[in-house]
Amino acid sequence: MKTSVTGYPRIGKNRELKFASEKFFKGEISERDLLSVGREIRKEGFLKQKEAGITFISSNDFSLYDNVLDTAVLFNIIPARYRELGVSELETYFAMARGYQTEKGNVKALAMKKWFNTNYHYIVPEIDDDTEIRLTSVKPLTEYKEAKELGVETKVQLIGPFTFLKLARYTGEKTIDDFSDKLAGEYAALLEKIGAEGAEWVQLDEPYLVRDISDKDIALFTKIYDVILGAKGSVKVLLQTYFGDIRDIYKTVIEQNFDAIGLDFVEGRKTKELVKGFGFPADKLLVAGLVNGKNIWRNNYAKTLDELKELKRVAGDSVVLGTSCSLLHVPYTLENETKLSENYKQHFAFAEEKLVELGSIAKLSDYGDSSNVAAQDAFKENQKLFFGRVDSKDEAVQKRVAGIKDEDYTRLPEFHEREKIQKEKLGLPLFPTTTIGSFPQTQDVRKNRQEFRKGLISEEQYTDFNKKKIAECIALQEEIGLDVIVHGEYERNDMVEYFGEHIAGYVFTEKAWVQSYGTRCVKPPIIWGDVSRKEAITVPWSKYAKSCTNKPVKGMLTGPVTILNWSFPREDISIKESTLQIALAIRDEVLDLEANGIDIIQIDEAALREKLPLRKSDWYSEYLDWAIPAFRLVHSGVKPETQIHTHMCYSEFTDIIPSIDAMDADVITFEASRSDLQILDSLKENNFKTEVGPGVYDIHSPRVPSVEEIVTALTKMRDRIEDSKLWVNPDCGLKTRGETETKASLINLVTAAKELRQIAK
Ligand code: GLN
Ligand code: ZN
Repeated sequence: MKTSVTGYPRIGKNRELKFASEKFFKGEISERDLLSVGREIRKEGFLKQKEAGITFISSNDFSLYDNVLDTAVLFNIIPARYRELGVSELETYFAMARGYQTEKGNVKALAMKKWFNTNYHYIVPEIDDDTEIRLTSVKPLTEYKEAKELGVETKVQLIGPFTFLKLARYTGEKTIDDFSDKLAGEYAALLEKIGAEGAEWVQLDEPYLVRDISDKDIALFTKIYDVILGAKGSVKVLLQTYFGDIRDIYKTVIEQNFDAIGLDFVEGRKTKELVKGFGFPADKLLVAGLVNGKNIWRNNYAKTLDELKELKRVAGDSVVLGTSCSLLHVPYTLENETKLSENYKQHFAFAEEKLVELGSIAKLSDYGDSSNVAAQDAFKENQKLFFGRVDSKDEAVQKRVAGIKDEDYTRLPEFHEREKIQKEKLGLPLFPTTTIGSFPQTQDVRKNRQEFRKGLISEEQYTDFNKKKIAECIALQEEIGLDVIVHGEYERNDMVEYFGEHIAGYVFTEKAWVQSYGTRCVKPPIIWGDVSRKEAITVPWSKYAKSCTNKPVKGMLTGPVTILNWSFPREDISIKESTLQIALAIRDEVLDLEANGIDIIQIDEAALREKLPLRKSDWYSEYLDWAIPAFRLVHSGVKPETQIHTHMCYSEFTDIIPSIDAMDADVITFEASRSDLQILDSLKENNFKTEVGPGVYDIHSPRVPSVEEIVTALTKMRDRIEDSKLWVNPDCGLKTRGETETKASLINLVTAAKELRQIAK
């Protein structure tokens, strides 16, 4: 049986690309040095996969920042404002990704959005009326050749034209239909070139197909692929889908002239049904995504082998065993985990271990029941893992979840009454200013944490240092004139990992990094068993912060849905059940903060939108119906005068506004500086009751927004939000920013709020 890997991680086993890029941005290394780090990472990945015997290995799955951005650049889709900077190609590329600010020019970055239902973020391409789509780069060819020189034959991976066009933003009068023919033609030209280079296969990723798609979309898809498949030359095309099933278009694509079709059997609830119901053409390969590309648990060989057997009955020998999606979404290797005991490790498979799993399963499938000793041993070892993990159960937790009552999901009194009480108690000015929580995590902050972790300094030393930072941070906020103060989150390296570390039931990794966007990575903790709070988590820090100031201090927590979504979840109980367990743990912390005099508490749900099912028909029944109540369970126990904030990264909730309101927070802050203000119109239309702080400062970029710019943004917001409900804050936490730009930006933000107060008087 042949095997296929959709894509491989690319940040480097030890995040080499991240560190090199950051040095490059600071001017510490040259373009050449940066590119050579990229080359090394690719080489490693190619050779690893080849060594593991993978049949179909991708090239061009690498990117210096993001592969949707790469695709835009590949086809000359570069908005004029970046072109006009007149800087090098690579600098233009990074200007689109990160914004640009020197004497040569000052432009914001392109918008960034979450890649389907993952925590990876892509850069949103902008197509203007005068965009001239034209194949201009050779990246896919270069990377194909590079692999070939290493003795690795690859399939060239490209984001498919349909998905690309659907994800792009059209800034003018023209629409997708005005560009699709041209883009299809350029893809066809690219495929021909790739074929001429000697490549046998191209993989076109079309994850957009797993969403609800209309007949019009199907017509567009067909039209685009008629062009491409009609003119591709010698190269074979694998249509790769992932993150769900393609029920709306399955029948259409199996009739098209693809040479292979990749389907997701992990997240695609209906994939099997589709293949069995409609059959699968004998002249194509079926790449069956059965090894989970998103989670880190070992594959259950018995189950997978059964699935393969069934598939072979339909599609015969043309079944290829594949990953359910790119391995970009899992860490590199368990080899890096030196502290994790075998008891845990044997249950996990990261990217490298998944390569081994692919090989083992393929062999087992080939040998059938006959006795290949090595394969059979691997099988037995594997099956032992699925007899049940005793140490994952905590009866007290299960009892508590079972005992949750309906009224535990409702906070009283209702919002309008609370709003009055809180306004009176807090006495904040109009347009209150605040931040989202974290302040710059400078070298010394990280060093303090690391040294404590390694046992090099005492707990007292660690705490004293953080207290000093908190005091400084508060002094700074007072100097700047912010109204609601935060402690700065110096104790956290990550908003989810930190909480995971302080609640029972979690397992941690050392180097299991997963790329989140550009050079940023996260290290999702693993939910191993039933979860509960063992001790106060943030209370001591918030209490100390409160002792440093007379202004209101906001306590900072991460919400249950985000903790769940940014962890690797269990596969032996439902994610709903896990989320409720986490909600109870955070509820304990909320009540503890309140008891300690913290009267504003922010519960971040940065990732709430992320796991919203890709199909609308599943939104409520599969997700919102339990996720929103889980959030309410966290704060329903507080007093009316305690103000509950929540924060969501990205403002993509236009279509679920009633659900966001139903979280029943008192204030919500969210990203808005990079996106248009359509969200605010929708809030107005929906009579959104919660007070709002749409971000006015893009913290994903080092650029300092001017007072004027912020006033302009706020003025637009005032047209859509009542003055009494509008907060002024950055888009997100400041932890990744530098100190100087942060201070300058916050001063401008406060100045802008003050100007507005004058105007509003
Ligand atoms: N409170 C967190 C911070 O400021 C929120 C981060 C986030 O939303 N991603 O860092
Ligand atoms: Zn955020």
